[in-house]
Amino acid sequence: MRWTPAILHSPAGERVRCDLCPHRCALAPGQVGACKVRRGAAGGMETATFATSVAHTDAVERKPFFHYRPGALALTLAAPGCSFRCDYCVNHPLSQYGREEGPAWEAAPVDVPEVVAAAAARGACVALSYSEPSLAVELTLALAEHGRAAGVEVVWKSNGFLTPEAIDVVTPALAAVNIDLKGLDEARHRRLTGAAAAPVLAAIRAFHQAGVWVEVSTPLVPGVSSSPEDLSAIAAAIADVDRDIPWHLLRFTPAYRMREENPTSPAELAAAVAIGRAAGLRHVYVERALGEEGRNTRCHGCGDTVVERGIWSLGANHLAAGDCPVCGTSIAGRW
Ligand code: SF4
Repeated sequence: MRWTPAILHSPAGERVRCDLCPHRCALAPGQVGACKVRRGAAGGMETATFATSVAHTDAVERKPFFHYRPGALALTLAAPGCSFRCDYCVNHPLSQYGREEGPAWEAAPVDVPEVVAAAAARGACVALSYSEPSLAVELTLALAEHGRAAGVEVVWKSNGFLTPEAIDVVTPALAAVNIDLKGLDEARHRRLTGAAAAPVLAAIRAFHQAGVWVEVSTPLVPGVSSSPEDLSAIAAAIADVDRDIPWHLLRFTPAYRMREENPTSPAELAAAVAIGRAAGLRHVYVERALGEEGRNTRCHGCGDTVVERGIWSLGANHLAAGDCPVCGTSIAGRW
């Protein structure tokens, strides 16, 4: 593990306060925060997130982004750590680094110019995913700075758990962010993730207002986000920000500390789609369980199918500069 200087901190007496996420850990020199990948240092802070255990290229649809450059490639990196400790995390060997016994985490320092050049050569963006990208804010800023001249954008698949000042710092570096909104009931969200829900919704609003393209994902977690009442509340909250925000409904898969729960059924996912539409959301997606209809984009003006998708891939984009080719209605996105 290699520690490099971190940003977003302020003095707190003998300690240093981390201002990256709302946990706002106050750390003595050498002490790691709740995420296990940032620590106090003499006169400041350090981070272990300028490294990645993954560097592969796949479709942006896989992140998932459905209204951001359909069919484009994403060179995906994963720095260690997470500010949440979700009981169902399928990526827990990566995200829960330092919290769990297990094999040593293998990662290589990121060579930013090399990553940007590799992405540029394939017309790809750089995506930070699998673990929590907001903990790699320094890496994100460096990638964006180098990427600007090469036309390489940076995107996140994030839990959205950032302070307002962190959002201000990182907003100019991001083209798009997909934020997991796992629930709005504070007690149940905190039990599942170890963190508050309100900052996540605030981040969705803040990124959206700042002009970053935002999509939202909700895993149907039993007892937290799978009931019609919980899904209605989540859908209404997203629609209150903007009913054009795409909402991805993710099937719950038993994993990690929730292996005894049942996976989400196709019928439950279909019901959740109906709830999203009833709340006014224009674009509600299910990747696999409902077939093509779950993945395709329909024009909210005339109902024509304007973007067709395969599983984690683009089928055909019929939009004309972002407009429906039949009725001319503008479909929100970065096309
Ligand atoms: S990013 Fe890590 S060190 Fe900073 S406040 Fe959050 S959990 Fe604590």
